[in-house]
Order: sequence, then C-alpha cells, then structure tokens
Amino acid sequence: MSLLELENVTLRFGGVTAVNKVSFNVEEGEVFALVGPNGAGKSTIFNLISRIYNPVEGDIRFDGKSILQTPPHQIARLGIARTFQNIELFEQATVMQNLLVGRHRHRQSNMWTELGFTPFVRAEERRHREAIEKVIDFLDLQAYRDKYIAGLPYGVRKVVEMGRALAIEPRLLLLDEPASGLSVEETQDVAFWVEDIKKQMGVTVLMVEHDMHLVSAVSDRVLALADGKMLSLGTPHEVQNDPKVIEAYIGV
Ligand code: ADP
Ligand code: MG
Repeated sequence: MSLLELENVTLRFGGVTAVNKVSFNVEEGEVFALVGPNGAGKSTIFNLISRIYNPVEGDIRFDGKSILQTPPHQIARLGIARTFQNIELFEQATVMQNLLVGRHRHRQSNMWTELGFTPFVRAEERRHREAIEKVIDFLDLQAYRDKYIAGLPYGVRKVVEMGRALAIEPRLLLLDEPASGLSVEETQDVAFWVEDIKKQMGVTVLMVEHDMHLVSAVSDRVLALADGKMLSLGTPHEVQNDPKVIEAYIGV
C-alpha cells in the first residue's frame, strides 16, 4: 500500500482546470518531486493534500484511507506536515519558540489538558521539548535556538521552516520549493537535509521544486505537470529526457 494516493483528482477555479485528472502514488520512504512551469498546478496539489481545497472529482488517500472528509486542522494529526514557499514563521520569536508553537498547534488536547491537569501537561510539555531538541540537533540549529527569526539570514530561516514541519514528527513531509532563493551552497545543504530526512528520520517527502539539479540529486521519482495535466512520470532521468517535458519547458 502506498502512503499517499491521488486518484483522478480534478479541481477547477472558474473556467481554469488547475488540476486535471491527476493520479500518482507516493510510496513510504521515497522522495517524490512535482515539477513543471508556473501555473502547472503544483501548489494547488499541495493545497488539495492539505485539505485547503476540495477536489470536484477523484480521491486522495493517506495510509489507505480517504482524507476527503478530514478537516484541514486535523491533517497534521494524521502525520502530514508542510512548509510554505513564502516562509511562515513568527519574526519576533526565537527559533525555539517557533518550533514549540508549531508543535503546540497540533497537540492532542483533551479534557485533562483543558482542565490544566498538571502532571499530564508537564509530561506533554516534556515530550514537545524532546521532539524539538531532536530536530534542532538534526538540522544543526544549536547556534540559533535562542535567536530571533527577524535577525536570521534567509537560508537559516528556510531550515527553521523545515524544522517547524519536522517538529510535529510527520510521516509525510510536503516541501514547497525548499531551495527557492538559496545560493548554490545552501541548495547543496538542502539536498543533504532531504536525504537525511528520508534515510535517518524515515520520513517520506513530496516536494515541489524548480531546481532540477536538486530534484535529480534527491528524488526517487518525478511527476512533470503542465496546465494541470500529467506530462511524464518516472525517474528524474526519464522525466528530464521526455520530449513532452522538454517541449513544455521550452514553451512552444
Ligand atoms: P504552480 O504552483 O504549478 O505554479 P498553481 O497550482 O499555483 O500553479 O496554479 C494552477 C492554476 O490555477 C493557475 O492557472 C492559477 O492561476 C490557478 N489558480 C491557483 N490558485 C487559484 C485561486 N485561488 N483562484 C483562482 N485561480 C487559481
Ligand atoms: Mg506554485
């Protein structure tokens, strides 16, 4: 069974079919990339998986079960985390605080926490901090933990944004253009993080990315889209050499 399955998914905005009968599966443990020119439907697919939009046709399954009845705020609880192309961090808070807030938003609240039942809350707090310490170590953020986001270089913020998503200990991580705006060296670092996220953390990754070097370096499989439609699905090598993909990129 695949971890994520999109079956014949369609979404329209007025007269524009942003996603047109798209089907693909992401297997547990793989890095899967979505590529394609602007307007291809990549971000819309992320928004469909995050349940921000409802498809007009098709099904989306996570771990074998349809998520079409799951409200957006429960998606993280299922084990799906995402980053945003435009970093969404609290500027006037520290790295540590941002990671904590990210986690608290998705905590399992119940009667005991609502009533402030202290031993339970303390145990939960300890669990949050442990999960965050793990992410800080993993992403090498020790030097930045108490620094304010506003004062950090863009490249570090991108890593914190990834950390915010990893802190909720997802099974599936959606990365929206993790290398956009980064230097060649920083992009190389992102490639290492993605490999480690897959190999060491055992997290499955679905990413949207324009940098084809990064895509080729880290992806097991790639789906190229154009105008909401599937163009080509295969290994990075197969997709990059597919005449349909070359044509879409050159723009005839
Ligand atoms: P990509 O991320 O691949 O660049 P998008 O998924 O953002 O593409 O957009 C796919 C198509 O859907 C585009 O034609 C875009 O203009 C349209 N679109 C995306 N979001 C909206 C929206 N909220 N309202 C109307 N049209 C939208
Ligand atoms: Mg986009």
